[in-house]
Amino acid sequence: MSASEDTAAAPTPLGTVGVVGAGVMGVGVAQDLAQHGHRVVLLDLSDPFLDRARAEIEKAVRFHGFFTKQKGGPTPAQVLEKITFTTDYAPFAACDFVVENATEKVPVKERIYPVLDEVCPPHAVFAANTSCISITRIGGWTGRPDRVLGMHFMNPVPLKPVVETIRGFHTSQHTIDTALRLLGQMGKEGIVVNDLPGFVSNRVLMITINEAVWEVMDGVASAADIDRIFVTCFGHKMGPLATGDLIGLDTILHSLEVLYDSYNDPKFRPCPLLRKMVDAGLHGRKTGRGFFEYGAAAA
Ligand code: NAD
Repeated sequence: MSASEDTAAAPTPLGTVGVVGAGVMGVGVAQDLAQHGHRVVLLDLSDPFLDRARAEIEKAVRFHGFFTKQKGGPTPAQVLEKITFTTDYAPFAACDFVVENATEKVPVKERIYPVLDEVCPPHAVFAANTSCISITRIGGWTGRPDRVLGMHFMNPVPLKPVVETIRGFHTSQHTIDTALRLLGQMGKEGIVVNDLPGFVSNRVLMITINEAVWEVMDGVASAADIDRIFVTCFGHKMGPLATGDLIGLDTILHSLEVLYDSYNDPKFRPCPLLRKMVDAGLHGRKTGRGFFEYGAAAA
């Protein structure tokens, strides 16, 4: 089906949503979708990832209800009942829409899309929740580039009301409308932008975080003081290093590598200290330690 035929098509159903990757973002997306009444199929590579995801969703739904003081919201059991946890793509045959949240590495994502393309129904839309990889490039890994777009959710997903929504070269208006409708059902708004690696947000943010890491390495100031300057002088809610810890320093490194390769521009060169911290297992909140330390509860 061509993009123009697609524009005239009936609305894509949005009953069951597939979520690929059950890490920081996939867990948040799955939880948020299920809390808003969707059936969800959540896939990761192995059962331990899925067991961790189940435990995190249970904890987060309880915390979310407390945090938002939402009365009468779904209980953890009701949310979990809506989610099928799987390592197998077969249940994606029932998915109308897929949000892909696997590790930010081209060779990883490149293997996922052809499988989705084969298993999912022809009407299904694929949304890449990528930090930096070109949506046009991802669309080219499928036979349906008109039905592929970027949905760059913010972290933590259930608490962030805006999603950077990226139109690839072949993305149809019908696909954009379908994604905005799904976001509306999740109580979120999409800001639609065009496609170049890093889009609007991460083309700026990744360089900022990387430069703050260079400042730590060069001994300009401590991590705490660098962040304090952004918080107190600029009114940011978090400094760049705490933001890097929240996103995951491994994801920051992978994103910078994607930007560096995509633009062939040395301004995206990852700071050696960032690489060293990732090699040492200091990935930020998700491992309990990055530029700052976090209790066992942080995830
Ligand atoms: P993460 O490392 O926490 O999770 C990635 C998950 O993908 C892991 O559970 C891993 O097992 C799984 N995975 C790897 N290969 C897979 C495969 N072939 N099939 C299925 N699952 C696979 O990373 P994250 O922070 O959740 O990031 C996921 C995506 O979201 C990345 O593309 C990242 O750039 C993007 N993103 C991250 C943030 C953030 O703040 N962390 C924000 C917006 C977008």
